[in-house]
Amino acid sequence: NSGSTVKDVAEYLGVPIPEIIKKLMTLGEMATLTQTLADEAIQVIADEFDKEIEIVHAADDVDIEPTYDDAAEDLVERPPVVTIMGHVDHGKTSLLDAVRETEVTAGEAGGITQHIGAYQVHHNGKAITFLDTPGHQAFTAMRARGAKVTDIVVLVVAADDGVKPQTEEAIDHARAADVPIVVAVNKIDKEGADPTRVRTELTQRDLQPAEWGGEIEYVDVSAKTKQNLEDLLETIQVVADLEELKANPNVEASGHVIESKLDPGRGPVVTLLIDRGTLKIGDAVVAGADWGKVRALVDYKGDRVKEAHPGDPVEVLGFDGVPEAGEFFHVVESDKRARVLAAERANRLKTESIARRSGRKVSLEDVFT
Ligand code: GDP
Ligand code: MG
Repeated sequence: NSGSTVKDVAEYLGVPIPEIIKKLMTLGEMATLTQTLADEAIQVIADEFDKEIEIVHAADDVDIEPTYDDAAEDLVERPPVVTIMGHVDHGKTSLLDAVRETEVTAGEAGGITQHIGAYQVHHNGKAITFLDTPGHQAFTAMRARGAKVTDIVVLVVAADDGVKPQTEEAIDHARAADVPIVVAVNKIDKEGADPTRVRTELTQRDLQPAEWGGEIEYVDVSAKTKQNLEDLLETIQVVADLEELKANPNVEASGHVIESKLDPGRGPVVTLLIDRGTLKIGDAVVAGADWGKVRALVDYKGDRVKEAHPGDPVEVLGFDGVPEAGEFFHVVESDKRARVLAAERANRLKTESIARRSGRKVSLEDVFT
């Protein structure tokens, strides 16, 4: 089911459309042909007509995340979005910090970066976006929502420790998400560092190094001494180029929630990652069961900006609540529409949770109020 309408349901059940509409009316519900029905409503109708059905979702919430079909000439190159994964203590946080500092010393960003869940660095004059939430939990949460927010996984493996359980887990995650892997062999400054052993161990996991005739790029780095960080950025860009990451910037923005929090002073603060389009001050936005009118946009450096473009992370003020990480967001034509869509989603979530809790049959009254 991906947003089945009255017409879809009629076809699927093999019941004439007027019968469905009549049934909905006797249940106190006025419905139109193209109206989308919630799963529970479809179930109630199926029961009324004594039909056995099974409602299947391709992925959680996939019904609210459309796929866009932009013409090739409207597409423009966008920055890759990179997630750093790897075993605990292998240097994910250190590497994220070290990479971030390459920007400050290069004098391009200037100032101190603030934590908004993602940041950007520039290499060869082009941006790379790093998700600042290392670890598998965030990645798994996003994936569970069907959100594809990462273009490249940087797999950090400590050269003095080698492949460990969470290294393998990270490989599994990247493969499940069909995201290319770049291996950063970290801590090469340490005594006992053995980058070749890391390559051998990972070759056994089908990550053959390019320098050995395989497909995977390896970069030996040290987050501590900052060795080879530019090489890592260069390699990320090479891999990104092969992916041909593009987006249409000239449409209303959509993308995903990276993180959100309730700030005592500023209210809900929501970091969005733009997948497509341009987000502007004054835009009406829906993210899951929450909506907002963009009051202010703040970039990863803490600067106020007027717009955010594809591949950019941006902090948004003006939401009515704190949507969960991984939620899809999109700009709609008006505040009113945003409010309606968010309320519909809230209702659906409420009904689903009532149904789950009580295990009872859900009536149309639950579904439509
Ligand atoms: P995480 O758990 O993967 O985020 O790992 P951390 O970034 O917290 O690093 C774990 C430990 O390894 C810390 O004590 C770091 O200082 C140290 N560390 C990280 N990278 C390097 C490196 O390149 N060289 C050395 N010598 N130590 C490092
Ligand atoms: Mg860490």
